[in-house]
Amino acid sequence: MKKKGLLKQLKDSVMKLLIKLDDGFLCDTCRYNHPTSCSRPERPNAKSCEEYTRKT
Ligand code: SF4
Repeated sequence: MKKKGLLKQLKDSVMKLLIKLDDGFLCDTCRYNHPTSCSRPERPNAKSCEEYTRKT
């Protein structure tokens, strides 16, 4: 996965916080939410994830 820019990291952090407040799953709005793109065991119900990247 690509290295993220600072602004992108900030946007993703804000989205993570909003999803947490809404009690949802990060995967629902993550661009890697597909078996071929993400092999993490917590998908599709991740509550926290270092690789979360918001869908554009
Ligand atoms: S990278 Fe993390 S947030 Fe994104 S789909 Fe995979 S487990 Fe979910």
